[in-house]
Amino acid sequence: MTIMQNKAKIDASKIAQESIEDVYQEFETSKDGLTASEANKKLQEVGKNTIQRGQKEPQWKVFLKNFTSLMALLLWVSGFIAIFAQMVELGIAIWAVNIINGLFSYWQEHAAQKATDSLLKMLPSYTQVIRDGKSQQINAEDLVPGDVFIIQAGNSISADARIIEATSFQVDESSLTGESVQVSKKPEYEHGDGRFAEANMVYAGTIAGSGTATAVAVATGMQTEFGKIAKLTQTQKTTTSPLQKELNRLTHQLSWIAIGIGVAFFIAAIFFVKYPVAKSFIFALGMIVAFIPEGLLPTVTLSLAQGVTRMAKKHALVKELNSVETLGETTVICSDKTGTLTQNQMTINHLWTAKQEYQVTGEGYVNNGEVQLNNQKVDYHNDADLEMLLRISALNNDTKVEQPDKAGDKPKIVGTPTEASLVILAEKAGMNVDEESKVSPRLTELPFDSDRKRMTTIHQLDEKHRSVCVKGSLDGILDIADSILDDGKERPITDDDKKKVLDADAGYAKDGLRSLAVAYRVVENDDASMPNDVKDWTIENTEKHLTFVGLTVMADPPRPEIYEAIQKCHDANIKVIMVTGDGALTAKSIAVRIGITSNQARVVTGDELTAMSDDELIKALEGEIIFARVAPEQKYRVVTTLQKLGHVVASTGDGVNDAPALKKADIGVAMGVTGTDVAKDAADMILTDDNFSSIVAAIEEGRTVYSNIQKFLLYILNSNVSEAAPSVLFLFSRGLITLPLTVMQILTVDLGTDMFPALGLGAEKSELGIMKQPPRDRKAHLLNKSIIWKAFAWYGLVASVISSGAYFFVNHVNTGWPAGALAATGMNYREATTMTLAAIVFCQIGAALNCRTKDTSLFKIGIFSNHRVLFGIAFEICLLALLIYVPFLQGLFNTAPLGLQEWIFLVCIPIPLVLVEELRKKIFRRKA
Ligand code: ADP
Ligand code: MG
Repeated sequence: MTIMQNKAKIDASKIAQESIEDVYQEFETSKDGLTASEANKKLQEVGKNTIQRGQKEPQWKVFLKNFTSLMALLLWVSGFIAIFAQMVELGIAIWAVNIINGLFSYWQEHAAQKATDSLLKMLPSYTQVIRDGKSQQINAEDLVPGDVFIIQAGNSISADARIIEATSFQVDESSLTGESVQVSKKPEYEHGDGRFAEANMVYAGTIAGSGTATAVAVATGMQTEFGKIAKLTQTQKTTTSPLQKELNRLTHQLSWIAIGIGVAFFIAAIFFVKYPVAKSFIFALGMIVAFIPEGLLPTVTLSLAQGVTRMAKKHALVKELNSVETLGETTVICSDKTGTLTQNQMTINHLWTAKQEYQVTGEGYVNNGEVQLNNQKVDYHNDADLEMLLRISALNNDTKVEQPDKAGDKPKIVGTPTEASLVILAEKAGMNVDEESKVSPRLTELPFDSDRKRMTTIHQLDEKHRSVCVKGSLDGILDIADSILDDGKERPITDDDKKKVLDADAGYAKDGLRSLAVAYRVVENDDASMPNDVKDWTIENTEKHLTFVGLTVMADPPRPEIYEAIQKCHDANIKVIMVTGDGALTAKSIAVRIGITSNQARVVTGDELTAMSDDELIKALEGEIIFARVAPEQKYRVVTTLQKLGHVVASTGDGVNDAPALKKADIGVAMGVTGTDVAKDAADMILTDDNFSSIVAAIEEGRTVYSNIQKFLLYILNSNVSEAAPSVLFLFSRGLITLPLTVMQILTVDLGTDMFPALGLGAEKSELGIMKQPPRDRKAHLLNKSIIWKAFAWYGLVASVISSGAYFFVNHVNTGWPAGALAATGMNYREATTMTLAAIVFCQIGAALNCRTKDTSLFKIGIFSNHRVLFGIAFEICLLALLIYVPFLQGLFNTAPLGLQEWIFLVCIPIPLVLVEELRKKIFRRKA
């Protein structure tokens, strides 16, 4: 049988019952996997290992939605009424505007979707395969049936596969079965209940919860069970974020207000001015169009998408646009220590054994340095305790350190930095790590987990003995050690011994150093208390009666940029809580050093946390607090309690057990480099550099996006006032003041000239003080009092006075008003309305500049620092020039050319506007 036939249908339950040899034969492979060229050939045949999900909504529906919103409907009807009232050009113009607006929103939505999709592509997932007889990492997309691959706790499984080997292997198949209990998997066939129940099969899309396994892939991509389901089901429904709800509410409100104003003006036109009905209709229409916030939704989407892109540049990948908003509201960050706050570059600098304490020096890496103990070259062969310490560190280790290509380069680490530091130590001391593991081959292991905080490996010591090597947290290991190695001899461990180690450890921890304890046990082959088969050795029966050997102590310096990031959090009133698996003293020392807490902070350990009542925890969380030696599961409780206190919580995590807390947090943050697939799946945001500072940068972006939305809201609202003012004058003078701005002209400002500067405001950089303010209240409205006040009573009012002034000024020049009458028709009238229009546009230029900052001086951020706004302004002026100089458009928009005198007047408008607003900002700053 060939792979081509497999394409037809792969029956997992049949494969489960075959012998493993048959499976190899069927997929033309062996237990040593494929060769690279075989794999390539198969990849050509079966295609990439990717899942294509069903479309959630047909594109035409998404497209049409942009033309059927309340706002769009209003504009359709308005256009219709205009045509009906014999204002055909106006009607067509309104429709044209509606179409342009709809296309624009569709394009924005599309662009935003593409932006987030491409971000996710930046996060490839990898699979550890055996090809050409060597274990190597490949992109999970390139996995093919027949590939033999290795699965570790935390991996998401990338193909349907038959298990070849497994050690305490458990998977979470809830993505397929909906059941979130972990199920054990092993090489032997065993049929359980229902589908996916075979014990020797694993399925793509499920997650390895614990242990390790080797498996041979039998189906990839859309051929997998997961692929088949994905084909049928649609993508999950996207939820509406609070911001979207707020915006919907706002546009509805504003639309209804627009209609209300329209109706009022319609009635007023009939009764006050005695206009005919049709003419009153058109008049009212102008008001409705002026007050509907057409560009708002697409502009918000755009600025969210821009925020996401900017965050990605700062190493924070956000999965959904919505998270941008939540980030801006964050009040607490719960952060891991190792690798997030610190560099995760471990260097051993002390060793402790019962006989002696060593200071480790010796620069450089594996082969271009040597280890010196207490400033002397030490031969470990002469020191039995030291030899044991190094040997266990080397054997109880899953990390490979590869020689750098060039001398002076850093070695390549495949594994974790903690273990790498141990390998490097042993090698520097002259031990051959590869040789050691050949002499004492590993039989099995009890993998590391962050609950018990240690790992155990079991080796064949000689024909008669097996050895158990353990490394992990000191407190845990002391509990299960009953003897100690002292000068090459084992003797019972005394309380005094324990006190000595703990004291030494506390001394290191106070300096922020991190320690790993090392212990062992030798078991005779015929020991009756242990199962004969090492596969049956468990944590309970193996991790006991240990002989304590000593401590390896390592430094992990804080990230250099962390100090500033923490300071920013303090300034911004964001609380930082360290939640670490490391010991209490180490945690506190680091926390104090990088400025998270003062020395008075309370350190709560995992055990204390378990004993605490909810009320006690709430109380403790109000003060300075550090959590140490906690298990990831306990993070969940911390997050929940903080949320009960009203906090918006960002929480980091990397391991399998972090997933619940990541899901629960308002912003779950997974580590991109060291994080497991499970953590990345559960998170809302992924840090490509694992760096705490990137969270702070993302929060800053989140705040910026929100404040930019408020900026353009202010911008588009304020012009409504100056657009409406002429009609108000007209009405309240009972028509004595001829209408200074026609409906077509209102449309021009609202949907033409205003559009690009508003978009430009969405791209404004973070304002200087943005991280010096407390987080905004979750319940606060986007459109707050200060914006309403500014838009209507300040920017809008001033602009109304200026633009109406311009109208009277032109009339004064042309007809000698107030002695003469205000022009009502003809060139004089057209010139006057043109001037009103132009004055509004130039007021908006001033407003665009003023809206760029809330209270920072414009001169401080630089008038020319936002190119989009400048482009918007240039566009605005060009459009205005076209409208008043192109004859065809003159007819359509009722405009007339302006003279030099008028232009000089116009160009001067923004200057006092900006200066006066600068003064206000200055006064405001001083008050604050
Ligand atoms: P953090 O929560 O700050 O990220 P870790 O999860 O890395 O800290 O470590 C928690 C504890 O688990 C450490 O203090 C150490 O005792 C133990 N530990 C970490 N890595 C290993 C390892 N590879 N082998 C054994 N024990 C380890
Ligand atoms: Mg960790």
